[in-house]
Amino acid sequence: MMDMLLEVREISACYGRVDALRNVSLRVAGGEIVTVVGANGAGKSTLLLSILGVVSPTRGQIAFAGQDITRWSVHQRLGSGLVLVPEGRQILVSMTIEENLLLGAHMRRDGGVVRKELEGIYDRFPNLARHRSHNASCLSGGEQQMLALGRAMLAKPRLLMMDEPSLGLSPLFVTKVFELIEEYNRDGLSVLLIEQNTSHALKIAHRATVLELGRVAMEGEPSAMAGSARLQQAYLGGAV
Ligand code: ATP
Repeated sequence: MMDMLLEVREISACYGRVDALRNVSLRVAGGEIVTVVGANGAGKSTLLLSILGVVSPTRGQIAFAGQDITRWSVHQRLGSGLVLVPEGRQILVSMTIEENLLLGAHMRRDGGVVRKELEGIYDRFPNLARHRSHNASCLSGGEQQMLALGRAMLAKPRLLMMDEPSLGLSPLFVTKVFELIEEYNRDGLSVLLIEQNTSHALKIAHRATVLELGRVAMEGEPSAMAGSARLQQAYLGGAV
């Protein structure tokens, strides 16, 4: 059996009387990009929030790096390397670019290493380097997504979770974001990617799960899914 980094076993979650997830299972092995796709309201964000511990599932288990984390706090999970790039990026626009980046490292004690990694991020994102002491409000949406990614990398993720990173970006930046995810993955990063942009996500993922109304509708090889009628159906006729 492959070495599983994340294993979600049959979790269910609800908001009051609204069932958001029903019996959802998901696995991410070390070094993989796994994508979860599905229409608006399918439960994708709830799945991420459950893994992060913000939403408490009503049943099921979650294991990460060989430990049962089902009852762990958000703080403990962050400390163990579960890092989220949230939907909408959540950049603090009244702070500088560098201050935003360093927020990612706030739980770390190895300041010297953080400085080195910060320089590595500036090498990868010259635009962030150029404006490092400027207010983050000067960045475009695409650049803010780079900043959010850089900030997450400074948290030293063992699993990087991204909630719709392509949302609202120009086509050029969409391509750039997916290239960056692949680049980091080639360096060994494991990624759980939530997307409505199915075509891009299925291209870079090693495995995919399709959610439909809170349930797993399909699971497997992304290339086999790309043109499938079942996927189209999960989107209720939406653009795939
Ligand atoms: P989106 O792409 O719009 O974020 P999603 O696939 O991430 O969609 P979720 O946001 O996880 O879906 O929502 C799953 C279900 O839970 C939907 O029916 C949604 O209306 C409901 N829901 C989500 N958040 C809440 C909340 N805070 N209170 C009540 N219901 C919610």
